[in-house]
Amino acid sequence: MCCRSPVLAMAQPSKKGPSTTVKISCAKCGVFLYKYRKGGKGALVKCFVERIEEDAANGSLMCPGCGIEFARAAMIRGRPANKIVGGKVIVSK
Ligand SMILES: [Zn+2]
Repeated sequence: MCCRSPVLAMAQPSKKGPSTTVKISCAKCGVFLYKYRKGGKGALVKCFVERIEEDAANGSLMCPGCGIEFARAAMIRGRPANKIVGGKVIVSK
């Protein structure tokens, strides 16, 4: 923590960073699940709930198309997140 620049000190985790919006779909039936603001690169392993822009499952962690559980609720760094179950979703731009 640094007190020299109060404006920067209170910055949000990602205010205007290089975050890409990706589409997340069910790997089994292809139904659209989330539109998600993904930070960083690499495989998607978790979705912070606050970054989900569109939730086709309406807060449920089951695919509305085929009913598989594609994520599990978790708390990551004190924030609610959905941990993606490996191989259950497809991420596309
Ligand atoms: Zn499905």
